[in-house]
Amino acid sequence: MKRFFVYFIFSTILFVSYASTKPFTVVIDPGHGGKDPGAMGPNGREKDVNLKVSLKLGELIKQNNPDVKVVFTRDVDKYVPLQDRSSLANKANGDLFICIHTNASKSRSAYGSETYTIGLDKTNANFEVAKRENSVILLEDGYKEKYQGFDPTSPDSYIMFEFMQSKFSDKSIEFAAYTQDEFISSKRYNRGVRQENFWVLHQTKMPSVLIELGFISNPTEERFLLSNEGQDIMANSIYKAFAKYKHEYDKKNIAANTSSSIKTDTTLQSSDNKVTYQLQLFITRKQLVDDKDPQFRGLVGCTFYEEGDWFKYTYGSTNDLDEILKLKNNIKSTFPEAFIIVFYNGKKISLQEAEKISKQK
Ligand SMILES: [Zn+2]
Repeated sequence: MKRFFVYFIFSTILFVSYASTKPFTVVIDPGHGGKDPGAMGPNGREKDVNLKVSLKLGELIKQNNPDVKVVFTRDVDKYVPLQDRSSLANKANGDLFICIHTNASKSRSAYGSETYTIGLDKTNANFEVAKRENSVILLEDGYKEKYQGFDPTSPDSYIMFEFMQSKFSDKSIEFAAYTQDEFISSKRYNRGVRQENFWVLHQTKMPSVLIELGFISNPTEERFLLSNEGQDIMANSIYKAFAKYKHEYDKKNIAANTSSSIKTDTTLQSSDNKVTYQLQLFITRKQLVDDKDPQFRGLVGCTFYEEGDWFKYTYGSTNDLDEILKLKNNIKSTFPEAFIIVFYNGKKISLQEAEKISKQK
């Protein structure tokens, strides 16, 4: 008991000192800029809307969360290549990456806000958005070499996107859902949380989202987005989502720290416990009552667990890592974004922790 207590104090000191050296860092990425205006409306340019809302958001975070470090990929009207935006976020050791964009459509009637996380939408419904946002690459000399042969206009090219982001998809979707919730509260039309492959999201090593504030091609929405009041509303909504996300992050970090020291102690006592691997498919706010719900995409035998306000749906359950990898491969065409989660003694742990536990045995 005494040893455990000493360990607990020691790890708490470690955590506190770690927390004080590395502040929570949010990287805000205003899309386009400089020679790249982004989408054009009848009166305004996307790059200006993105920058204004981004700066307002950054200011809100700085004012209300002095413990948070805010990093911008650009804070003036200049051109920044896509590749540089994600490497800047990685260099800053970011905890959250928020790209801010404005949508456009050939149809002037399209309107509303949507938030993307990376992932392949099998219906290809959002391909036009991804194509437009990724096409910035074409402005760069030697883009084929720089972007590993990626051609933003060819759907085939998108197959090369490996799901580097998959270990963050849970967190990315959580922030995306908070953002859409706030847009709804601000009376914006909700186009939902969506998945698509944006280059700027695919190489970041942190939870990452791309927000499309609204349609600059829609005259009413353009008027709103060009107005100071409209920009305030959008920045405020994203800020509220950020505050909620940060609050949850802090809660979990403290809990994780406390439970990990206790866990170490119980590991020593009970060595016959096993780790359980599952595949997480998606999360929802409402429990799904019908197993034919389209969100299951026809997959049967899914289960769920609850965490915070979320119902998290999973597939498969095994003590064998190879087994779960096989299963992940089997459902790859239905749920390409599925990722492995691990439980141990009723608590969710990381794959790295699971590996350590397995090695101990
Ligand atoms: Zn854009």
